[in-house]
Amino acid sequence: MTRDPRYDILFESVPIGPIKTRNRFYQVPHCNGMGHTYPKAVAASRAVKAQGGWGVIATEECEIHPSTDVSPHIEARLWDEGDMRRLQLSTEAIHQHGALAAIELIHQGHDSANRYSRLPVMAVTDRVVSGYDPVQAYAMSKRDIADVRMMHRNAAIRAKNCGFDIIYVYAGHDLSLPFHFINPRYNHRTDEYGGSLENRVRFLRELIIDTKECVGDQCAVALRLAVDELLDEDGIVAGNEGREMVEILAELPDLWDVNISDWSHDSQTSRFSEEGYQEKYISFVKRLTSKPVVGVGRFTSPDTMVSQIKRGVLDLIGAARPSIADPYLPKKIEQGQVDDIRECIGCNICVSGDFTMTPIRCTQNPTMGEEYRRDWHPEHIIPKTTDDSVLIVGGGPTALEAAMSLGKRGYAVTLAEAAGTLGGRVLSESQLPGLGAWKRVVDYRLGQLAKLDSVHIHLNSHLDSHQVIEFSRELGIQHIAIATGAKWRKDGIGRAHHRPIKHDHSIALLSPDDIMGGQVPTGHVVVYDDDHYYMGGVIAEKLVREGASVTLITPGAQVSLWTVNTLEQDRIEQRLFSIGVRIICRHELVEIARSTLRLRRQNSDATKEIDTNAAVLVTSRQPQCSLYDALIETGQTKPLAHINTIKRIGDCLAPSTIAGAVYHGHRYAREFNTTPDIDTVPFKREYVAI
Ligand code: ADP
Ligand code: SF4
Repeated sequence: MTRDPRYDILFESVPIGPIKTRNRFYQVPHCNGMGHTYPKAVAASRAVKAQGGWGVIATEECEIHPSTDVSPHIEARLWDEGDMRRLQLSTEAIHQHGALAAIELIHQGHDSANRYSRLPVMAVTDRVVSGYDPVQAYAMSKRDIADVRMMHRNAAIRAKNCGFDIIYVYAGHDLSLPFHFINPRYNHRTDEYGGSLENRVRFLRELIIDTKECVGDQCAVALRLAVDELLDEDGIVAGNEGREMVEILAELPDLWDVNISDWSHDSQTSRFSEEGYQEKYISFVKRLTSKPVVGVGRFTSPDTMVSQIKRGVLDLIGAARPSIADPYLPKKIEQGQVDDIRECIGCNICVSGDFTMTPIRCTQNPTMGEEYRRDWHPEHIIPKTTDDSVLIVGGGPTALEAAMSLGKRGYAVTLAEAAGTLGGRVLSESQLPGLGAWKRVVDYRLGQLAKLDSVHIHLNSHLDSHQVIEFSRELGIQHIAIATGAKWRKDGIGRAHHRPIKHDHSIALLSPDDIMGGQVPTGHVVVYDDDHYYMGGVIAEKLVREGASVTLITPGAQVSLWTVNTLEQDRIEQRLFSIGVRIICRHELVEIARSTLRLRRQNSDATKEIDTNAAVLVTSRQPQCSLYDALIETGQTKPLAHINTIKRIGDCLAPSTIAGAVYHGHRYAREFNTTPDIDTVPFKREYVAI
């Protein structure tokens, strides 16, 4: 297929200082939970994006010296020459596929506690470090400032020698020393580095000049700068100092990479923002500089990208998450395969890898982070090795991914779904407030399945064990995959409760499935959230929208506690407060009697009682595996000669995130017709050389 000429502009080269890009697709720096610990995995992941057509591929933040050590978070590291080889793996892999390599050098100042290096923490002014480490940072002397400039120069030279084409000076996200110098919230200095904006920008200006001096002959120097903190008068605002900073530094860097701060504002989820959400903050930048500008906004639509360029907002289309969900996004636009783009759903599961210090994962792209260790590729999968065929029961994300990937391998697949539509939990959850974009998980897979002749889908087909056996016998199917999902429990068993909660049936007890299925409790409704991810908060929001008065009770220290890992916790809490949800944290539900909930404060005997009309229990999910159990039982009494394997996959085995369900469906398809050895670790590891 050929590309739509409307998108030609996206494939124009852009000069950046001494270099030029092959197109306008720019993978901005993003963390991946692999960093310096898994260098082969990082290189393989970045290489796939270069293959997929991205013009520039940037590293995650890269520590320049042990005095900026964010351990145990796993970022890139260029403390000395010993770290170079790891990064060279990435530059070589990126160059091999024709892209430019960029590196985001960082000194984090008071945003690193130096837990591993145990060096004293430097900051613009005396202050505590970010987070809760009982550590303080000391105000840098002029000598320290000169030292950090030297560290940055040395790291820039090492980066150039690693083969990087673009070297960043990083002042974004409220995470870096130059941004701390700029920011009057932190900078209380009285010397020439404090006071006026001109003074506060001095350190950043010096870093840019230093970097240009030492590597500018060969490398472009990019500045990543946050121009708004969304804090009004408490922070940098695009309308005043955000703009003035750009005016002061306008022609100094070779490339402006502009965004909003902090990270939770920069990487907003689809629950809280639309594609292109940063435009109103950053659109002024291009008018103040002749240098190219890159920015982000969860861009997945080529029309939106073209519009950003034609309207003079951006020169380069920056993307982290869209490049994670679809490393081949540019190539698909180039080859006229826009319908094949695996669009990011804006869920930030990818971000959770950084917070949990584990390799990146993605809801839409199960191969992300698995390129090296499992040899998985987002666009290629090995062809079938037998003529066996498969019956998949269920039509949720697990089943759809398994059917699509098996179909792409060439296997004959029959999928039977009880409902009249496909999508399972994703379809239901995407009806909840703010989660509409999640339906892309289903849409992408249905689009791909429609092109696969070897996959046959039967809707309105609830199968019992006899039907599965008969059906597979009739069709000559040898393998059964049960992907019948999970249902939310209604007995309260979860993290805080290991046994059912006592109740006298005096009020309606509901589950999220009941609410998603259309039940609408009225009056005062309690949402009891012992799940701690998004579901409790989103159900509370839905109930308020439908007219209920809602109290959200959770044993957690914060509402939707796990969403700190997806950068959403603050926003969820703000949203719930703003719509009038009453929040009670650190309380367990003891019993329900006479329309009253009795709660106990954690770690105390203090109890309180709350009258309510209904309670929605969001605690844990029960695998729906009765079909699987019946098949196994039948097979034990009477061998099912025509069936080789019966497996249960996804939520019907172990309920998890949608990302987990997709991943398991994908793994089933990849491992189909293989026999894993229990004694063999199922992926490659990267050992520290001894
Ligand atoms: P997962 O996340 O693992 O894909 P879901 O709960 O999203 O699981 O989807 C499970 C799907 O399986 C639902 O759409 C449900 O209607 C379907 N299903 C459950 N039991 C049967 C059955 N016996 N026959 C056919 N489909 C079933
Ligand atoms: Fe997008 Fe979610 Fe994948 Fe991240 S995990 S890239 S937000 S789909």
